Amino acid sequence: MLQIYNTLSRQKEYFKPLHEGHVGMYVCGPTVYGDAHLGHARPAITFDLLYRYLQHLGYKVRYVRNITDVGHLEHDADEGEDKIAKKARLEQLEPMEVVQYFTNRYHRDMELLNVLPPSIEPHASGHIIEQIAFVQKIMDKGYAYVSNGSVYMDVEKYAKDYPYGKLSGRNLEDIVTETRELDGQQEKKHSFDFALWKKAAPEHIMHWPSPWSEGFPGWHMECSAMGTKYLGEQFDIHGGGMDLMFPHHEAEIAQSCAALGHDSVHYWMHNNMITIAGKKMGKSYNNFITLEQFFEGKHELLEQPFSPMTIRFFILQAHYRSTVDFSNDALVAAEKGLARLTEAYQRLMKLQASATTTVEIGNLRERCQEAMDDDLNSPIVISHLFDSARAINTVFDGKGTISEADLNELRSVWKTYAMDILGLQLDGAQDAGAGMDAYKGAVDMLLNMRLEAKRNKDWGTSDKIRNELTALGFTIKDTKDGFEWSL
Ligand code: ZN
Repeated sequence: MLQIYNTLSRQKEYFKPLHEGHVGMYVCGPTVYGDAHLGHARPAITFDLLYRYLQHLGYKVRYVRNITDVGHLEHDADEGEDKIAKKARLEQLEPMEVVQYFTNRYHRDMELLNVLPPSIEPHASGHIIEQIAFVQKIMDKGYAYVSNGSVYMDVEKYAKDYPYGKLSGRNLEDIVTETRELDGQQEKKHSFDFALWKKAAPEHIMHWPSPWSEGFPGWHMECSAMGTKYLGEQFDIHGGGMDLMFPHHEAEIAQSCAALGHDSVHYWMHNNMITIAGKKMGKSYNNFITLEQFFEGKHELLEQPFSPMTIRFFILQAHYRSTVDFSNDALVAAEKGLARLTEAYQRLMKLQASATTTVEIGNLRERCQEAMDDDLNSPIVISHLFDSARAINTVFDGKGTISEADLNELRSVWKTYAMDILGLQLDGAQDAGAGMDAYKGAVDMLLNMRLEAKRNKDWGTSDKIRNELTALGFTIKDTKDGFEWSL
């Protein structure tokens, strides 16, 4: 039976869904004002693993992962300006252009990492009405106050009736000393009060009408409003990175309790953080490596490109609650490990059955399931697969045999655990990237031949190459350095 670690109770608990056979799961998604980096890959892959495993166990899962496209104020203490609005203003774009551009790029990165799309992907900006209604409920219950057109959670009052800080293990005094001076501090009764609705300053470009002011919702409000809209007032799992535990998730709990009189979430799950060469990721360290930079090898800390599958494998090699330290060397090791697994899988598909089995196969399926049931212990699943790879290689090398029944079982377990649950594309699908390189190389080669023909005034050949590529749908442009092409 599946056990998962519940951050709220600080222990592993047997997973029991609120509605038999169904699981409602909410995960905090990206803020779309920049390219996805490793910090986005880890929660996406962690909860993809959970999503895949729950489905494997036979649950019908409604997986909601939001897009934060408004009101992400708390992380932008510098000016208190919404990051998307700021980018739109600086680059003279419509905010939704910024949102769409980075959402598309996020989706592309997730697809490359073989992260399954969620069942619902709601945008905060598309749920302003629900957020206003949620704020109104908190107002009606007396746990919020209006100040200068903004609405704040009355944390002191709330904390008298409910335990505030229970998720992150903080008390109000800790929170007072931690709270930084942020925008709007002078409007609040206490520094730890957080915004449910913010009146928009005149230069703000993203704002909506509300009973209190023309403004925008506080960042925490979207997850409370959208989580309960799509999953109900109580739902099973809420996930996210550990960095979101406070203040974001703590505020979500307070909002739910204040508005509904009870918690919304049954199990809180948090993935640990990623460091790069021992350091926290941060702009000041110049180690904010985007996923695209990993895939292309274009960053000073990288000596080569790494495939999306290598990144996925690397993340899954650590348990989601341990820290992961990225370095070029660690990724090179992961690349080798993944290559060994891929080779074993492809050999497994080619093996011939014999009358008897002489290699040690063990009860691989049970061992993999046991590891997954133990709070998604993916590194142990991977080590079981490596054990199994040794048996596969022994048979492949002719030093052992395997029966038809054992061979079929082994193939089925690898397909289930390596491909379907860990989501590793061991069947050559990850070579699509290499296929792309070959295809680009072939077009470049033809166009170089055309360049050479032109230099030799062989117009017949040069026109033939251009016309035939054009007929296939390529657009070819001559430049002073040679050529550019697109399909
Ligand atoms: Zn959230």
